[in-house]
Amino acid sequence: MNNSYWNKEIETMPRKELEEHQFRLFKQQVRFCYNNSSFYRKRLEAASVTPDDLKSLKDVQKIPYTTKADLRDNYPLGLLAVKNDDIVEVHASSGTTGNPVIGAYTKQDIDVWQELMARSLYTVGVRSQDVVHIAYGYGLFTGGLGFHYGAQKIGATIIPVGGGMTQRQVKLMKDLGTTVLCCTPSFAVYLAETMMKEGIDPKTDLKIRLGLFGAEPWSERIRERIEQQLSINAYDVYGLTELCGPGVSVECRAKHGLHIWEDHFLVETIDPKSGEIMPYGESGEMVFTPLTKAGLPLLRYRTGDISVIETETCHCGRTHSRMMRVTGRSDDMLKIKGVKFFPSQVEYAIMSFPEVATQYQIILDRPGALDTFLVKIELAKETADNTQVDLTALKSRILEKIHNITGLSPDLELVKPGEIPRTDGKAKRVLDLRLGKT
Ligand SMILES: [Zn+2]
Repeated sequence: MNNSYWNKEIETMPRKELEEHQFRLFKQQVRFCYNNSSFYRKRLEAASVTPDDLKSLKDVQKIPYTTKADLRDNYPLGLLAVKNDDIVEVHASSGTTGNPVIGAYTKQDIDVWQELMARSLYTVGVRSQDVVHIAYGYGLFTGGLGFHYGAQKIGATIIPVGGGMTQRQVKLMKDLGTTVLCCTPSFAVYLAETMMKEGIDPKTDLKIRLGLFGAEPWSERIRERIEQQLSINAYDVYGLTELCGPGVSVECRAKHGLHIWEDHFLVETIDPKSGEIMPYGESGEMVFTPLTKAGLPLLRYRTGDISVIETETCHCGRTHSRMMRVTGRSDDMLKIKGVKFFPSQVEYAIMSFPEVATQYQIILDRPGALDTFLVKIELAKETADNTQVDLTALKSRILEKIHNITGLSPDLELVKPGEIPRTDGKAKRVLDLRLGKT
């Protein structure tokens, strides 16, 4: 593997040194919150903790968690720790219910974000010679500008295309010689489908060689499809508006977990029910403390994202711990007839069948007294065109796989390609029609 780093000293720092560095910053950050945020002053006083009580990283546990509800209750800027004047940019993510979640950045916050996005892009191989096509939404969403800032720092050529206009995007990619694609995984699949329809072969007609995909959960199977259909290397990238946007972690070329940039984020995993800290290596809810955030600092922020953290040094030489692919969000968890499952488990089951396409939908309803559970899956074009395929047998194989993974037996409907509605490539994966019905 060709190892080269954006910041070698930091990225390969021995863990002991890295942890000492984290503790120094953590303590400094708690002090900053204590002195500058009325929200945290009250929180810490209620927990009877002062910054001076922190003697080692273990004492992190003394600090109470911050939750999404805290952000909603203090909407829009109740958690601000600087003067309004010092905020230079605001982003927001659309909450599914109630107030949006606000990200407010000082000049220093933007500089850190840009540095981390540059580091993330460099890690997967983006260089100044690249043409970077950014098809994440621009505007309040952090995707567009986050990648933009990072690519700008590297000195690459940026095509800030944003969302929508799929056919035109394909034309621009071809005409402008795109080498790097940044978008959601479902939009990448949609772009590949559109290219196929237009008779464009990415291998011969495009110069694209890699892509960074995030902002929604995706499986290994979808990675294989994107890599094969677009003829590229596809990497996962992670972030949250609350923490900075994308740039919290990224896969390296080893494609085995996403390196969390621990010089800027302290990560813990906890049991989502009891709130107890879990050892690294076990599946739990990730809790992040941004260590250098000034505008809207957060202490021990519960992300709701379930993952496993590995701390051994990676093949790439980086010492920063790796989070495995997010398997679900604790608040995405669905319950049917008393059984809990994640939509990603159903996706994992479905995507192991090459006979079906990447689009599917989980539909939960309550027409009478009992809940119903339907999974609709689009057939791959080759399967739909081939009259020899035994669809009944295929259905029962898929059902068996879903049952093995989730313990559930949904109704299954195989539909023609294109039948599940999508907006700009993004299909609504879960339709819970039970909401509001009792
Ligand atoms: Zn690595």
